[in-house]
Amino acid sequence: MTTHHQFEALVVGAGGAGLMAALYCSKTVKNTAVISKLYPTRSHTGTAQGGVAAPLGNMEEDNWEWYMYDTVKGGDYLVDQDAAEVLAKESSDAVIELEHMGLPFDRTPDGKIEQRRFGGHTRNFGEAPVMRSCKAADRTGHMILQTLYQQCIKQNVQFFDEYQVIDLIIEDKVCRGVVAIQILTGEVHVFHSKATLLAVGGFGRVWSVTSNAHSLTGDTVATIYRHGLPLEDMEFFQFHPTGIYKMGVLLSEALRGEGAVFINDKGERFMERYAPNMKDLASRDVSSRSIYLEIREGRGIKGKDYVFIDATPATINKYKSGPGGKEVTAEHLEHVLPDVFEMARVYLGVEPLKEGIPIQPTAHYAMGGIPTDLQTRVLAEATGSIVTGLFAAGECACVSVHGANRLGTNSLVDLIVFGRRGGKAMAEFVQHADYAPRPKDPEASTVAQINRIRAGQGQELPGKIRVEMQKVMMDWVGVFREGPNVQKALDTVRELQQRYKNISVQDASATFNTDILEAWELGCLLDLAEVTALSALNRTESRGAHWREDFPKRDDVNWLKHTFVTLKNGRQELSYKPVTLTKFEPKERKY
Ligand SMILES: Cc1cc2nc3c(=O)[nH]c(=O)nc-3n(C[C@H](O)[C@H](O)[C@H](O)COP(=O)(O)OP(=O)(O)OC[C@H]3O[C@@H](n4cnc5c(N)ncnc54)[C@H](O)[C@@H]3O)c2cc1C
Repeated sequence: MTTHHQFEALVVGAGGAGLMAALYCSKTVKNTAVISKLYPTRSHTGTAQGGVAAPLGNMEEDNWEWYMYDTVKGGDYLVDQDAAEVLAKESSDAVIELEHMGLPFDRTPDGKIEQRRFGGHTRNFGEAPVMRSCKAADRTGHMILQTLYQQCIKQNVQFFDEYQVIDLIIEDKVCRGVVAIQILTGEVHVFHSKATLLAVGGFGRVWSVTSNAHSLTGDTVATIYRHGLPLEDMEFFQFHPTGIYKMGVLLSEALRGEGAVFINDKGERFMERYAPNMKDLASRDVSSRSIYLEIREGRGIKGKDYVFIDATPATINKYKSGPGGKEVTAEHLEHVLPDVFEMARVYLGVEPLKEGIPIQPTAHYAMGGIPTDLQTRVLAEATGSIVTGLFAAGECACVSVHGANRLGTNSLVDLIVFGRRGGKAMAEFVQHADYAPRPKDPEASTVAQINRIRAGQGQELPGKIRVEMQKVMMDWVGVFREGPNVQKALDTVRELQQRYKNISVQDASATFNTDILEAWELGCLLDLAEVTALSALNRTESRGAHWREDFPKRDDVNWLKHTFVTLKNGRQELSYKPVTLTKFEPKERKY
């Protein structure tokens, strides 16, 4: 049985981007709904610890041009500079708006929003670190999510919690809504809409060691691709330097913002060699590679594949690496990093005030995704046309403000700046648009996909295929890449896609059937792994998070362009789009 709904504006995803968009849209469009496979406040945005960037200048001088420069340089010049300018200019206002909604930011003694340092954020075009990250202890994302959810409830946004979108209704480049499964009952729901915004987050679950929640499987990113629409810059996936050893759980970069340093087996602060100026506050791609190089040269702790992040007051004071070079105390660190310290204690049994914390790089953030313009409208091809009525914002989108590597704190600000733009753009669109006709049987593909999995009698187990995919992607399409290995990963993923056709699941019931839905998500992950490996193989240069050992130089002559991958008649086609350059000419990146 299918249930039908009609909403002028639909948002898929209830993380920071989705809620900000819904909030803004609902200010003029009373008939706005949010569909989320998770209960809204369980979205991954809630785990963000470090902070949200804005050049407020509350602690020391700062301005949007310095911030824009850092974003462009951090992204290794693949950033579209018109988008970075929007981000830098609109960030302060968006953060102050959150403050006015009631978000409990940390405060300076005179009542302003307190700020801290973060990797790659500098004053005066790279001179020295600047305090730009606005935060609520190390629970910033949690506070953003709670604040926005409350505001949406106040606005009477209608929520469909624990509904999983399986398909988009797109015909003739016009989006007419989505098809979802209600997880509780297994029933199909068709949502007919004028405007639909996708804010489904990332897909770190492609890799074995990841900071990403179980739910980050890139569902509608894969659906976009299956509808023959392009994905942009998929080779750029960020590995965050400080994942808990073996688990991948993230320890926020706020640690280094507060002065923690990387230490190898010889007790050396090795970032002094790799980034003499910014040291431990170099951008994430640089830090992750440096850690791997230390490990490769045998300087991992006890010869193993990890190093320490050392946040003890003794070490911070020895190197004068605390904010402004000031002495730090155990009480202060405990106050500003409560959750991070608790994680070290609970997961590792380590006392962070007395000893180093074992860490290794962890798959963290998708710079690439669904291409959009500055109004968050989804592009139908590399150059030119858009998909009418379809918008995307947040981590699943690629506008592109992060280019080849995102700076810490720049995702949360992306969510609120482009979430807000998305909400406004939808509201505008809805006022002038009619409902495009709903095709006959829009749910047919969803029903077929789910039934195929339920009825599968093959010998293959989804869990086994998932582990194999994650391993080859981690080994061969991770921090370091080399042509023949990436090719092996691509071949393996394609074999796994064939084997995926022969899966079977244990549970055939209707109620809360996560067995079937997770098997469906695996299909999405496989498609995204394939596009990632293909894009990585194709880009024969090193830039940002994409590091090719066989092509170790950045090549602006041939590769200062975005990659687009589109599925046409079962085959991937590659095309390109030039990077938008406005204020900053590409230069060699030094930290
Ligand atoms: C541990 C961790 C710490 C981080 N710390 C920071 C930080 O300090 N600063 C910073 O700037 N960035 C940080 N990031 C990155 C940042 O938090 C994320 O990029 C950002 O929160 C993503 O927000 P989003 O709104 O795009 O999606 P998410 O918050 O991931 O939400 C995705 C939403 O989509 C829904 N969804 C997904 N698929 C479907 C489907 N098929 N049907 C229906 N709904 C669906 C989910 O239910 C969820 O509501 C961190 C990330 C992690 C993992």
